[in-house]
Amino acid sequence: MAWVLIGLGSNLHDREANLAHARELLAARVEVVRTSALYETVPWGYAEQPAFLNQVLAGETALTPLRLLNFLKKIEAQMGREKTFRYGPRLIDLDILAYDQLVIRTKRLEIPHPRIAERAFVLVPLVEIAPEWVHPGLGKTARKLLQEISTEGVRRW
Ligand code: AMP
Repeated sequence: MAWVLIGLGSNLHDREANLAHARELLAARVEVVRTSALYETVPWGYAEQPAFLNQVLAGETALTPLRLLNFLKKIEAQMGREKTFRYGPRLIDLDILAYDQLVIRTKRLEIPHPRIAERAFVLVPLVEIAPEWVHPGLGKTARKLLQEISTEGVRRW
């Protein structure tokens, strides 16, 4: 079994229900061990859209990284994620943040997720559930990475 960190985000319709639905669907292939609180985040990238609710889960899975990615995409599709544009509004967004201590850099899949270190809406919930997790590319704990950025715009919901 692999240890994985998964990021969830939603900023359309009933955001809390969307996250709950995604967690239920995830449970088919990921045994969730830790669940962060929900955090509300001012939109990033494209600002003229509703605020996001974000959450991070830690758990175990037997899926390989690519199969996990495909599984997450299937959940997004099943939940009716409407494709808009990069950083635009979304019903559900699921990201593989980390997979054991693997570093993968391919066109389809980058692990750890490439923007963990700069995103407070990922690092704040991540530090809540796994502060001592070491980013295998940067060699720093989640706690240390969070100390290096501003948490403005992220608040516990
Ligand atoms: P997004 O807009 O966040 O849904 O990202 C879209 C694409 O990012 C997906 O089609 C994936 O192929 C790619 N991707 C690369 N690395 C990751 C990752 N760690 N987790 C999820 N998607 C990823």
